[in-house]
Amino acid sequence: MPTITEKLQKFFRLEASQGYANRAVLGGLQRLAESWPAEAREAGIEESIIPTVTRLLRQYQGMPAVERRDALIKMSELVKLPNARSFPEALDGVEAGPEKAQAKGSLTHKEIPETKKASSSTKDNTADKPSKKNKAVATRSKVNTRLKEVAKKPKLDEAAGLEAPVSVIRGVGEKQAVHLSRLGVKTIKDLLYLFPRRYDDYSKLKTISQLKYGEEVTVIASVLDFTKYPTKRGRSIVEAVVSDTTGTLRLLWFNQDFQLRYLRKGMFISISGRVESYLGRPVIYHPDYEPVDQQQLHTNRIVPVYPLTALITQRWVRRTQFNTVQYWADRVPDFLPEAIADRADVMGLAEALRQIHFPETQEALSAAQKRFAFDEIFLLQLGVLRQKRQWQQLEGTAYPVTDAWMEERIQALPYALTNAQYAALEHIRQDVGSLHPMNRLLQGDVGSGKTVVAVIGMAMVIQAGAQAALMAPTGILADQHYNTIRRLLCRDGNGHAPLLVDGQVRLLTGDSSAAEREEVLDGLASGYVKLLVGTHALIEDPVAFQRLQMVVVDEQHRFGVAQRAALRGKGDNPHLLVMTATPIPRSLQLTIFGDLDVSIMDEMPAGRRPIETSIVLPAEREQVYGQIQSQVAKGYQAFIIYPLVEQGDNEESKAAVEESERLQKEIFPNLRVGLVHGRLKPAEKDAVMLAFRNKDYDVLVSTSVVEVGVDIPNATMMVIEGANRFGLAQLHQFRGRVGRGEAQSYCVLIPETDDAAENERLRVMTETNDGFVLAEKDLSQRGPGDFLGTRQAGFVDLKMANLADTRVIQKARAIAEEVLKQDPELISDENLALHQAVDTFWPSQDGNGDMS
Ligand code: ADP
Ligand code: MG
Repeated sequence: MPTITEKLQKFFRLEASQGYANRAVLGGLQRLAESWPAEAREAGIEESIIPTVTRLLRQYQGMPAVERRDALIKMSELVKLPNARSFPEALDGVEAGPEKAQAKGSLTHKEIPETKKASSSTKDNTADKPSKKNKAVATRSKVNTRLKEVAKKPKLDEAAGLEAPVSVIRGVGEKQAVHLSRLGVKTIKDLLYLFPRRYDDYSKLKTISQLKYGEEVTVIASVLDFTKYPTKRGRSIVEAVVSDTTGTLRLLWFNQDFQLRYLRKGMFISISGRVESYLGRPVIYHPDYEPVDQQQLHTNRIVPVYPLTALITQRWVRRTQFNTVQYWADRVPDFLPEAIADRADVMGLAEALRQIHFPETQEALSAAQKRFAFDEIFLLQLGVLRQKRQWQQLEGTAYPVTDAWMEERIQALPYALTNAQYAALEHIRQDVGSLHPMNRLLQGDVGSGKTVVAVIGMAMVIQAGAQAALMAPTGILADQHYNTIRRLLCRDGNGHAPLLVDGQVRLLTGDSSAAEREEVLDGLASGYVKLLVGTHALIEDPVAFQRLQMVVVDEQHRFGVAQRAALRGKGDNPHLLVMTATPIPRSLQLTIFGDLDVSIMDEMPAGRRPIETSIVLPAEREQVYGQIQSQVAKGYQAFIIYPLVEQGDNEESKAAVEESERLQKEIFPNLRVGLVHGRLKPAEKDAVMLAFRNKDYDVLVSTSVVEVGVDIPNATMMVIEGANRFGLAQLHQFRGRVGRGEAQSYCVLIPETDDAAENERLRVMTETNDGFVLAEKDLSQRGPGDFLGTRQAGFVDLKMANLADTRVIQKARAIAEEVLKQDPELISDENLALHQAVDTFWPSQDGNGDMS
């Protein structure tokens, strides 16, 4: 992590280069005032200057630009930053705070007349006029000089106008501004980034004689006549007849009397819409049209179709966008340095903005989309790589272990490790033995044996006297790990002495009694307890460790980012291992998990029998019940999963509750049917799962929200109702709940329909047991949002990019790596704008963010 002085220097430079607009730090420089004193003390900065700097940071937002510059100089001198006096002059008399910048934007823009001719001449004016403002710009840093030299590149102070509210745009009143804000559009920049949700291609003009029914077309014709008349049911119709030299066409509007105000006999209009047939003659209902002597925005081109809210019309948004793009597209600073844009083979930002809104051709549109997709992926990559670098710069404690030690731990296990387990362990050993904290994602299919790998990893720090913690998403899973770990570490194994005694491994969950809790807390504080297993209870406040040096998070997707960070925060830069049983496709590994090192275990322990999977249509369900009966007769158990029928877990629970009653009464009166669903409290869920594991039930009915992430080797059947509703990765997870014992296991998928095409997707489940193959398929079928679930996808809100597009991702990553290699902090002149774009893209990643 950068030291506080490095950080200040970076922020101050950025701040100065942006005209002292108080935008270098997200939320303003005053934000630094909070963390500064502690960081300053840590860095050994002289105590006497701390309050002065704190005060200046706090007051900064209230100062005019000229004073802001002085304040930065003063602080730089106090903290002894190099070149304090080299900040560029502040703009005389111009306060460059966001509020003033807005006022400036408003002036410039309202001045722009609507026609194209006038607006371009205004633009030229701005570029040519040697204003005071421009002179000030020239004396700023090198970056601005360079920017100025590059023709058409906007000046940074002009760019500040982009943050002005949309209401400064001509034709956007306060009311429209409110409507736009419903679409998330507050500033001019937001508006520019409000991309069309689709395009209608009216660019291919036809004559009336060429029209075919059902086609979307544009024709140009003159209005022969128009009338209004009522229908039998009391509606009113406006009808116009238009003609070009080849034929006539009828236009009809229902209940739109206002059309009468626009239509004129003899006027030439360009008409777009779908051609229908009415009494054998061509007609267009509710066409879009406009006089042809106007700029053809709505017709006769590839027309953008924007997302709308009530009260604003498509025409209005188009017109507003057109004006905005015309004026502002050239004024948006392109944060991609030219060399990068060249390497990525993407068009400039101004051109991309123009083409994404009003594409000239389909090719230009694709090129614009490519540019914006690249931007997203590239900023994402810079963010994750920067995060990774920050990880790598942290200092941790090394826990090297000898070959002999490894050999003994492995010998003590009740089974031989797979090659994949060996390899993962070796990665962990390297990490834990280094001076930087491990930050590793362990991926392995359900049942691949991740737990034992994590346990030996934890043993590496424990053998040196430090502590480790393992967090699991449910009480029963924690309990299971607790038992596994005591078996592995506290028992004599193949003649090798145990590493710990029972009391040194402890369990802490929401169910732990007060007395137990007390004891555990004492043991942790004194350092007697070496390994703590538990649920979210681990991260609660009073849980404090003497020396926590390794943290393992199981089923990481079940935890939020904050929870993981909280657990890590209980140690001093501990080594971190997160585990996932959902294989993560390569493209996502490189993006949202891009800050982690990855180990993949793609091999199952020997002797596992592949699960037999079949698809059974609803009509043949009885046969499945028969199969369950026969499995239970052999002493085995079965799961039946019900899907989310309606959004909201009540409906789902209802389906499971009703079904379990029906199954118990009508289908399995001789068996014991258990039920677990989302409305149960965690302790109740655990109780049911425990009962199932203890064979108190033969059949367990469960909703899909309850992940049955538990080892129940005696269960041999997994039946999934409504299988068509689930993604492949999730189906694979369910399937992984069986096949954990010696016996042959079965998975039965029952889709809701017998629609062959719809069920085709499920076929691949019957063909492979490989979670990685299924994950890739699932990602391409459903997209990353559904694949990841909201908890993780939430923070990457990508509009244009496809997170499944490995090629673009790899390219962006390679470029990002290179850029960061040359300029790790992105503070060289040419990368300043890029730096800011990354900060905006990753608002939460301010220095010490934690993403994955
Ligand atoms: P997961 O990767 O899904 O968390 P677990 O760690 O729960 O898998 O392991 C699944 C089962 O496989 C456990 O019962 C464990 O004891 C067993 N196991 C793990 N490694 C091996 C191995 N190398 N050989 C045989 N069985 C193993
Ligand atoms: Mg597991």
